[in-house]
Amino acid sequence: RGWLADVDPSRRPRLIVLAGPTAVGKGTVAQYVREHFPQIRHSVSATTRRSRPGEIDGVHYSFVSDADFDRMVDEGEFLEHATVHNLSRYGTPRSSVQAALDEGSSVLLEIDLQGARQVRESFPDAVLLFLAPPSWDELVRRLVGRGTEDEEERAKRLRTAEVELASQDEFDATIVNSDVAEAAREVVQRILEAEAADVEA
Ligand code: 5GP
Repeated sequence: RGWLADVDPSRRPRLIVLAGPTAVGKGTVAQYVREHFPQIRHSVSATTRRSRPGEIDGVHYSFVSDADFDRMVDEGEFLEHATVHNLSRYGTPRSSVQAALDEGSSVLLEIDLQGARQVRESFPDAVLLFLAPPSWDELVRRLVGRGTEDEEERAKRLRTAEVELASQDEFDATIVNSDVAEAAREVVQRILEAEAADVEA
């Protein structure tokens, strides 16, 4: 008896995208899901940016050179990829995501809006969730508060955020991130609903 015997036939694993503007808390919400809902898998993206203190290669990202990234694009290794904030490139590896889905697990992708649109094209039944701030002022406060960008970079990100907030209706649902635990539970609730919904269709 193979592994198929372990897969629950009453639910189908789904690809879930969590996108949203800069500093809204996508990473924090995804991290909460990771810690509290281990049944949901996460994809490790490749990126050309330098690692920040505390980030581990292969855990937070696979840190690759521009040449490696080019090669991965050429060989079709990415399910989606994009240049984010006009700086570094990021991409979701196709093979590990497909492997998790094949094993019966839903996979959460924490990616930017350009990536979300590409996923929608290639996986029409992916579930797209938009994480929104409680208010514009709160978004600005979070961006300033984390202190990782200078004034010019912040202004650039906020211009992008303005456009992104206007694109919410491309998504299947908007989740407001007022409280991390609550937002994470709502994400998981959406995933469970999507897994079950397919079965009846
Ligand atoms: P950071 O460099 O702060 O970790 O991430 C910057 C932005 O890149 C975030 O908006 C994050 O969601 C996005 N990002 C991370 N990984 C990927 C990916 O694989 N694909 C795309 N399209 N965006 C990503």
